[in-house]
Amino acid sequence: MLPRAYRGGPRRYGRRDGRGRRRRRKVCEFCARRGRQPQIIDYKHADTLRRFLDERSRIQKARKMGTCRKHQRKLGRAIKRAREIALLPFTED
Ligand SMILES: [Zn+2]
Repeated sequence: MLPRAYRGGPRRYGRRDGRGRRRRRKVCEFCARRGRQPQIIDYKHADTLRRFLDERSRIQKARKMGTCRKHQRKLGRAIKRAREIALLPFTED
């Protein structure tokens, strides 16, 4: 086995991902907005919720959006409630 220095050196923060982009830590946008304005995750705010749906109206993965667990849970509840009252679609097409 070669020494680490010959194998590409130490692993550093900000390594490139598979697509050649620097990986940056995503921050939950609801946590980030806290303080500046009261953050609303509410079933009535369909426009906000819609941004967390993919093109087939499924809820985006928290991993992808960077949403923290707490807000992802609130989001999921709000989206499901919004679907019940037809503010958001269950599926596209
Ligand atoms: Zn959060």
